[in-house]
Amino acid sequence: MGTFHSYHALLLGKSVLQLEKDNYPVGATVRNFGQVVPSGMEAEWFGYGVAGLEIYKSIQHEFDISVQQNGSIYIASDDDECALIHELKAHYDTIGYETELLNQAAILKKYPAVKASYAKEALFFPQEISVAPDLMIHRLHAYMQTKFEHYTLKYNSPVTACESKGTGVVVGLKNNSELFTAEKAIICNGYEFKLLYPELFSESGIVVSKLQMMRSIPMPHVALEGNILSGLTTRRYESFEHYCPSFKSIKIPAHYEELKKWGIHILFKKAADNTIIIGDSHVYAGVNEFDDLGFDLSHHINELMLQEASRIVDFDVRKLQSTWAGFYPQHPTKHIVEYDLDNRIHIRTAIGGKGMTASAGYAAESIKKIIS
Ligand SMILES: Cc1cc2nc3c(=O)[nH]c(=O)nc-3n(C[C@H](O)[C@H](O)[C@H](O)COP(=O)(O)OP(=O)(O)OC[C@H]3O[C@@H](n4cnc5c(N)ncnc54)[C@H](O)[C@@H]3O)c2cc1C
Repeated sequence: MGTFHSYHALLLGKSVLQLEKDNYPVGATVRNFGQVVPSGMEAEWFGYGVAGLEIYKSIQHEFDISVQQNGSIYIASDDDECALIHELKAHYDTIGYETELLNQAAILKKYPAVKASYAKEALFFPQEISVAPDLMIHRLHAYMQTKFEHYTLKYNSPVTACESKGTGVVVGLKNNSELFTAEKAIICNGYEFKLLYPELFSESGIVVSKLQMMRSIPMPHVALEGNILSGLTTRRYESFEHYCPSFKSIKIPAHYEELKKWGIHILFKKAADNTIIIGDSHVYAGVNEFDDLGFDLSHHINELMLQEASRIVDFDVRKLQSTWAGFYPQHPTKHIVEYDLDNRIHIRTAIGGKGMTASAGYAAESIKKIIS
């Protein structure tokens, strides 16, 4: 979010100083799947996602930021999920967003790693892309440093103070041992709520989600390119909820109940090194109880995900290289949290689970409003 706000401000001719607290980015942006899936979004967030596709592709045209265009596929495993993908297709047909229904034979031909016993039908979006989460933000920073003369990026720079003063904003690092002044400050703090404005965030209603993720060992023989989303995803993502008339009335099959309890839906993303990212689960805590989410990975949750993953694909999902937790903030009633403290200090956080898809397009609009 911070990097794309910087990018769009630079395109508008502004000078930008971007301050990052850690040695290098280690937040949600490097811990995710890297699926850029506007098809899962609703209302203006779909539009931001579509704009994001174009932004990623146009940057990739100039500099390799790890974009791959292999599409997204939602695989339905029962009649209700098939109904949902038909209903979502009808919506996208009316607005002209390209999509294709695949029957079982077509799914198995395109994705030989998917099991016939799971796949009934699928919805495919050829225009959608993925990025490598462990590479994209680093390469985007490298690109922006070569492209924009008026861009300065400083790592190891935790901002601990930000105040309007005189005609600008003063930003302080390390107990104000280093100060910077600017016309405006945009705070994209991800899930860090203790360093700046803790009282404001404490009252914000923001909730943080902890997600468990796994990465397989390299599996060069497994054909599973692009963004692979499963039946449980059709029962979870906003676009299905918003645009599918049967979403609210479909039953939860008994074998999904424990999975739903832990917010599990199964996604796969194969990386350039042939490892396969498998996830995810969702456990929530209020912003003031963030530490209750813990530092441990629940074996029970990983086991549930592996069991469901092995229902979907026919390679050995238990051959794991690593597992990790990711965190993102979200708001129970808002798609994003925006505070304009005055006309100089602007907070943009809690974009939820859609930031890799929607941040690039959202930040373009956000910057226009902030700068106008
Ligand atoms: C496991 C997981 C899977 C996901 N999968 C997807 C996906 O496939 N597709 C998708 O669209 N979205 C996905 N998401 C969501 C997406 O990753 C997030 O929405 C997005 O990365 C949020 O970006 P951000 O910049 O707000 O937060 P972050 O990436 O967390 O960045 C916040 C940054 O702010 C810095 N910071 C905070 N406070 C300060 C301070 N005071 N001073 C200096 N620096 C500060 C932090 O160090 C950090 O680098 C996933 C998220 C997770 C956790």
